[in-house]
Amino acid sequence: MFSRGFARSSAPAVKPIEPLVIARPELPQAEALLPYLRRIDAARWYSNFGPLLTEFEARLTARFEPDTQVVTCANGTQGLALCLQALQLAPGSLCAVPAYTFVATAHAVISAGLIPYFLDVDPDTWTLQPHTVREALAHAPAPVSAVILVAPFGLTPDLAPWLELREQTGVQVVVDAAAAFDAVHSAALPTVVSLHATKVLGIGEGGFLATEDHRLAQRVRQLTTFGFRGSRDSQMPATNAKLSEYAAAIGLAALDAWPHNRLRWLRAAQGLRAATTHLPQVAFQPGWGLSWATSVCSVQLPDGMAATVERGLSEQGVETRRWWGLGCQTNPAFADCPRGDLTQTDRLGQAVIGLPFSIDLDHEQISRVAAALAASVD
Ligand SMILES: *Cc1c(COP(=O)(O)O)cnc(C)c1O
Repeated sequence: MFSRGFARSSAPAVKPIEPLVIARPELPQAEALLPYLRRIDAARWYSNFGPLLTEFEARLTARFEPDTQVVTCANGTQGLALCLQALQLAPGSLCAVPAYTFVATAHAVISAGLIPYFLDVDPDTWTLQPHTVREALAHAPAPVSAVILVAPFGLTPDLAPWLELREQTGVQVVVDAAAAFDAVHSAALPTVVSLHATKVLGIGEGGFLATEDHRLAQRVRQLTTFGFRGSRDSQMPATNAKLSEYAAAIGLAALDAWPHNRLRWLRAAQGLRAATTHLPQVAFQPGWGLSWATSVCSVQLPDGMAATVERGLSEQGVETRRWWGLGCQTNPAFADCPRGDLTQTDRLGQAVIGLPFSIDLDHEQISRVAAALAASVD
């Protein structure tokens, strides 16, 4: 990149196209935070389950079915790892994960002392299916103690067959609903949501576990705070994964804005859907931007088309990102982890791309994405 000074003194003949960036997160602004920050100043209570965190957790809990408990933590990855740790699974056992996921899912498994076992996903919903896990249980190279079910980019799976699988096999099931803040309202299975800045309700860094299992909630809480429970005796090997009052302040302001912001996300998504209806080659996730709101737009192209379309969009200054690359299993960090047949994951890796998407994506930007897509998909 040229420096500004250089560019000014020798202006290029053709004005470069302003790049359309993949994401532009928007967190609560200073004015919205101020009332909460003043409460922190007055209370002089900065972390360790202060009044703002308690209120934030209560407001998160209210989003779920009765009898759900919410435990906040430093981020979604820690939430998953601590949840697995709290389930007290056999050390070194396998935890089945969909290969089509973000690396955090597999990192959390390893942090909890387990080994990721990569399994294939359904080609239409991009989710792990119960029958895939049942078949894998018979062929796994080691005992499987748990499954992480991922809600891809915020699309939540039906929990009923997973509750049945847990009941019948004794295999624990945890839901990585990192991107599914909007859609998860039941925590019949332990469910972890991320509050990272790039997610639909961002606070910077943060996450939470929702569960109807009160013992599990209490153990995860204890793991986030040095193994303490009501005294300063550490009862178990643990860590520090608490959220501060400042993080809770952002969370409260974000929840205040959520009803309005949810509609802004949906409006942006529906604009993009409408602008691409004449492109049957571009497929959105089921219900994306219609029945659930999320912060990323991953679309599926015809098999093998990802690289070609990415190149075409790039020439138009439209940034793209394969959010989950060619699949989690292709990362060097997980080279030694066992895996099943991954035909569908490999296909998705070459067919799914992330398009520019943000809460304030405007008409002009939407038209630009649609035009660039139209020129690239043929
Ligand atoms: C974002 C994400 C995570 C990680 O959440 P953090 O809060 O960033 O640690 C885990 N799993 C999936 C599927 C994600 O999209």
